[in-house]
Amino acid sequence: MTDHELPELPYDYDALEPAISEQVVTWHHDTHHQGYVNGLNGAEEELAENRENGDFESTPAAMENVTHNGSGHYLHTLFWENMSPDGGGEPEGELADRIEEDFGSYEAWKGEFEAAASAAGGWALLVYDPVAKQLRNLKVDRHDLHALWGAHPILACDVWEHSYYYDYGPDRGEFIDGFFDVVDWNKAADEYEKCLDHFE
Ligand code: MN
Repeated sequence: MTDHELPELPYDYDALEPAISEQVVTWHHDTHHQGYVNGLNGAEEELAENRENGDFESTPAAMENVTHNGSGHYLHTLFWENMSPDGGGEPEGELADRIEEDFGSYEAWKGEFEAAASAAGGWALLVYDPVAKQLRNLKVDRHDLHALWGAHPILACDVWEHSYYYDYGPDRGEFIDGFFDVVDWNKAADEYEKCLDHFE
């Protein structure tokens, strides 16, 4: 059993301003993300205790806590990494070629991703699907509903209200524009490279 830990942000708390305020990054990372890390550790402890005691009454609920909090922890980790104060612009190189191949054009990809981000009750994700061997956009509710098994997230946009409401109020579209001002395509390209190494 691993003791999961909250990763440090790869930049200062105010580094994403004005797209995301220092206050929101602080609450989001130190309170919300920390909560998912704690929830995952707690659920794993409970599962281990239940196995030891041979009493599995609370095990199904603990399993739900693993997928909720574990997915929350993993997606937030990617979310922090796939933004940067030096971000913005469009993907380049092999990832740009693949987006064009799988979605038709960057503009078509972005329109589809923004549709997911506008409607999701959780996340918009660009993923690599290793079964179909293609990129896909997913609309995820909470952290783990409407997931696709085996898919590897390469870009994540958190559209929970805690992600934008303090900065933008109900105007989620403005937040999504802000996300694209700080998106770090280099990190997405790194994740895509991992998928090519493993699956193609
Ligand atoms: Mn969040």
